[in-house]
Amino acid sequence: MPSIWRGHSWSAHGDADANLVKCLMDRIRAGASLPSADLLAHNPSLEASAAQALDALAPRRVPCMFHADDPVFMASSKYGLQEIMHEVELWASECGAAFHTTPDKTVYMCAGADASQGRPIVFNGVQLSAVSVQRWLGILWPDDLDFTGVLRSRLQLCDESVAQLAGLAQMNVISWPMLCELFESQVDSLMDIGRWLFIMVAGAETLICDSYNRWARILLGAEWYRNAGTCSSEMGWSISGYHRVVLTVAVFRAKLCLTSCDDWHRSFHTLAAQLQCGWSAQSLSVLRAHGVMDWPTWAGAGSTLEEYRAYVVGVLREAFILHWRPCVEKHSMHPPYSAFEESPGVVLSFCKALQLDAVSEMSLRHWCRLRCGLPLLSHIGGRESGARYQNYIFCEQSTRKPVIHGVAICPHWTMQRQAFSAAVGMSPGDSHINFTQRWLSRIGDKATLAIVLKWAALIDQSAYNFWKSH
Ligand SMILES: [Zn+2]
Repeated sequence: MPSIWRGHSWSAHGDADANLVKCLMDRIRAGASLPSADLLAHNPSLEASAAQALDALAPRRVPCMFHADDPVFMASSKYGLQEIMHEVELWASECGAAFHTTPDKTVYMCAGADASQGRPIVFNGVQLSAVSVQRWLGILWPDDLDFTGVLRSRLQLCDESVAQLAGLAQMNVISWPMLCELFESQVDSLMDIGRWLFIMVAGAETLICDSYNRWARILLGAEWYRNAGTCSSEMGWSISGYHRVVLTVAVFRAKLCLTSCDDWHRSFHTLAAQLQCGWSAQSLSVLRAHGVMDWPTWAGAGSTLEEYRAYVVGVLREAFILHWRPCVEKHSMHPPYSAFEESPGVVLSFCKALQLDAVSEMSLRHWCRLRCGLPLLSHIGGRESGARYQNYIFCEQSTRKPVIHGVAICPHWTMQRQAFSAAVGMSPGDSHINFTQRWLSRIGDKATLAIVLKWAALIDQSAYNFWKSH
């Protein structure tokens, strides 16, 4: 691009003049003086001729992309695009190929400009309609390349999918580990389509992290104000929602580097990285901001993509813990989450390793809810209250710490407490808080956890029934 035209924003709608194109090509080649950007802005024909001259002189250009039966043609101006369409028509009649031109599928758009200005594009004798957004390869491509709308509508789609899963969770028809897996395969997979593009959206980090936190709360049956750190940890997540984007970007870049040197995706990625704007440059700065090394810097001889992926997850997890700890320390329940859990997202893999029986698995969500302090276990006069001392719902005794009262003190649960005491060789008499923390922590064997889970399900379900009848 000649420096005199560098700041110009191209309107793309004029008609090029063949003589002007040739003249401009000669001048660009010779390094001679060129018309100013101001002149281009006021003369659509001159502008289209300049764009056409640049296209003709470009050492590399992508005039079309074929993905299955979905071709996309590209040019620097509408005039250039119309020329390409003529070429395609000629080629089709020579080869006997036929294009099925339909108004909703065969469309054109102008990136960064008003497509409706100037002459319309005609193909196969049909006037194509101008659009400002078009679905291609599962992604809605807006003509201004601002993917904010795409991200927002995707999150909304996920919201609906999460609501369906939450229904299953409430009905208690699938286990918590299964539900968390369904989240990955049904909700997160929706985010995966074009996830690498979301770094282009201003404010994407907050938007995405807030959504993942909201989904964790909804699936666990927590109110909107509950601690995000504890709920996401019970989902088995050890990195944030936006970290998933960073991971995708890192792996995407690594895959590009691993293609052969003459692969055009790779060569365009390398060329685009030299520009100040665009995905290639922006993705690198996102990796740097998260302390993640780019593949070429990280990889040694024989390094694999899987190893790189594990490295990136490790870096992101460390960063996440730094943010997660202070968040969880704000958890104000008794006992607080930080008293019995030191890392995020480990409870599910712990339970999976124990290979719990079906009944225990179905009770897991109740225990996770108790770990987060979600069930409402005390009341004043049958109502929710903000009072410091309230009545434990199963015995009416006044308490400040209903979870501890239930696990370590309340005669209502004597039978369950005795079974648990015997299994862990610990008496609640030593310290109520230690006893309860032990009950909430993920240490012990399958049999001990089975006792805890059965009891947790009883507490959570009985509390649910209490509030249903009040
Ligand atoms: Zn009691």
